Amino acid sequence: MLFYQFGGGWLEVIAGPMFSGKSEELIRRVTRALIARHKVQVFKPAIDDRYDLVSVASHDGRTLDAEPVESVAAIRDKLRPNTRVVAIDEAQFLSNDLVELVLELADSGKRVLVAGLDLDFRGEPFGPMPELLAQAEVVEKLTAICGCGRAGTRTQRLISGQPAHYDDPVILVGASESYEPRCREHHVVLREERAVPLFPVQSSSAG
Ligand SMILES: [Zn+2]
Repeated sequence: MLFYQFGGGWLEVIAGPMFSGKSEELIRRVTRALIARHKVQVFKPAIDDRYDLVSVASHDGRTLDAEPVESVAAIRDKLRPNTRVVAIDEAQFLSNDLVELVLELADSGKRVLVAGLDLDFRGEPFGPMPELLAQAEVVEKLTAICGCGRAGTRTQRLISGQPAHYDDPVILVGASESYEPRCREHHVVLREERAVPLFPVQSSSAG
């Protein structure tokens, strides 16, 4: 890794929308560190349960053992002193004190790899990612492909097939949700009131 010879430790951030291959890139870098016989620990927030709680799964199905953590404090508790490379996937879901921990680790000579969504579905900076991006020695911004064929740099949130509203809560019980990558032009965030309510008033509902 000729490009990454910094004094002491350093921070690498892999950012981009959903489906841009962030986890694959994290797995690739961790695999290389393991081949180099570096001691590696991989963490991911326990709330990311798209596939399972133990592996960092990429959309192409490759996985890597990761320790699920409920909080930044849990990462601190689980860190072993001889760990040389600390990798954290889906970092946008962790609280802002991740920044402090990551800086501490880099300052103490560790290589820190962080992957996460740079922007939320509204197109706004997501959790601790903006500060991590600013502090990083190395940043890789990945893109996906929008339906128009151009680079997808944002994550479109769809609820029952319609663009999500700016004020929609992050968790919407009972709604069918999906996400897709979009370019800046095709990324839509509703700001006006919906013409058709999301949940039509029903007299009864099927079980
Ligand atoms: Zn587009």
